[in-house]
Amino acid sequence: MRFTLFSRLVLGYLAIFLLVMAVSLYAVYQLRRFHEVTRSVLEGDRRILDLEEKLSDALLSQVRYEKKFFITKDKALYDQFLLFKSDFDRLLDQAISIADFQGKIFLDSVRERYQRYEGLVREEIELLRTRRAYSEERYRQQKESAVSGIMGDLEKLKMHAQQSSQGKLTGLAEAGADAHRVAMLMVAVSLGLVLAVSLLITRSVTRPLSALKERTSRIARGEFEGDVKVSSPPEIAELASAFDLVCDRLKDLDQMKADFFSTMSHELRTPLTSIKEGIGLLLEGVGGSVTEKQKRLLTILAEEGERLIRLVNSLLDLSKMEAGMMTYNIEPGSLAPLIQRAVTEIGPLAEAKRIKIEARISEQLPLVKIDADRILQALRNLIGNAVKFTPDGGRVTLSAQQKNGAVQVSVTDTGPGIPAEDLPMIFDKYRQGTSKSSYMLRETGLGLAIVKYIITSHGGQVWVESEAGQGSSFIFVLPY
Ligand code: ADP
Repeated sequence: MRFTLFSRLVLGYLAIFLLVMAVSLYAVYQLRRFHEVTRSVLEGDRRILDLEEKLSDALLSQVRYEKKFFITKDKALYDQFLLFKSDFDRLLDQAISIADFQGKIFLDSVRERYQRYEGLVREEIELLRTRRAYSEERYRQQKESAVSGIMGDLEKLKMHAQQSSQGKLTGLAEAGADAHRVAMLMVAVSLGLVLAVSLLITRSVTRPLSALKERTSRIARGEFEGDVKVSSPPEIAELASAFDLVCDRLKDLDQMKADFFSTMSHELRTPLTSIKEGIGLLLEGVGGSVTEKQKRLLTILAEEGERLIRLVNSLLDLSKMEAGMMTYNIEPGSLAPLIQRAVTEIGPLAEAKRIKIEARISEQLPLVKIDADRILQALRNLIGNAVKFTPDGGRVTLSAQQKNGAVQVSVTDTGPGIPAEDLPMIFDKYRQGTSKSSYMLRETGLGLAIVKYIITSHGGQVWVESEAGQGSSFIFVLPY
């Protein structure tokens, strides 16, 4: 069973909440324990010690008054003795009511010995009253032995209470150290668990998302195969399957585009080439003798046919580039032979216009990663434009050099230049400039757009520096 994003978050936070609660309850429980032990020390042992002191005082006072009474026979002294006796009884009851088991044993012994002492006093008074002879010394010894027994018991009780509170405090210190250790452990474990739970939840969300992201990048590169396969919460799984659907649709569209380009290039190029060949054959006189007038017409037809083929080729190339369907065969290569070839190709036209083409190609030109055919196409367009727009007797200068980690190529002419208002759109398709010569040349307005696509697809840049009446410089750089 796969949990939804909502239930994962709720369960995660619930687990964190329970952990924090467990740690807090443990802390509260320990604090209560400490509180109880401290209270028992303060209320139990301290009070016993206090009562023990008062009991000793009350007993010694009784002994004092009892001795004085037997010497003076003064009744008031005996009353004082009785006063301290009731004090003693009351204090003893109090002590027994709060003493622990061991304390009670000592206090029972105190009561027993006290009763003996009290009994002896009463007996002696009775003997005095009836004026019978008795051994005062024997009674004195017996009373002393009872009193010292009581004092001994009280001393034992005192020792016991002191040891008990000492023991409790030691236990408390140990329990404190234990609690500290356990609390630290619980905090560490809780933090670890909180971290693990958070990581698990986060990962369960980010993993499918990065799979989706990776899939998107592959689609952007034109790879439509495969599905987003990763176990994910239902919400993201739904997103992933919607994504797969979009992907299938894109794949179909891509295929349609590819079919369209191949059909179009075949359907348009084939009849155009046939027309061109036919006109060529007619001009050569294969179809019979051709009059001068017919020849002129056929020449115009041939030129227009040629222009149409160029237009169709440019249109198809640009559409392919815009649709991202142009494939580049990138390999390290030198620009020098490509420039030479483009110059050679344009040679006849340049000669016809008496234009001097000068090529300044640096000898240490590094190799660059290029699709040679496409770069040649870009060079043809730039050099072709330069020759086309430069008036008869002008000059076209080509240069290629290494500059700032790139190879920079420039095509400079002595043509009419480009007005400042045309410069920003010069690389846009179908833009032909506002100068009259452009319209007169009746070209396609696609050449520079194709150049820009080719150069940027190689990771390079292209721009123009020109002023009306000052010639133009088209420059591109390609990284190596
Ligand atoms: P096309 O040459 O087919 O018209 P381009 O895209 O090659 O299309 O050029 C677009 C426009 O840029 C041209 O019509 C022209 O106005 C201007 N242009 C291009 N190259 C030059 C140049 N070397 N000198 C002056 N203008 C130019």
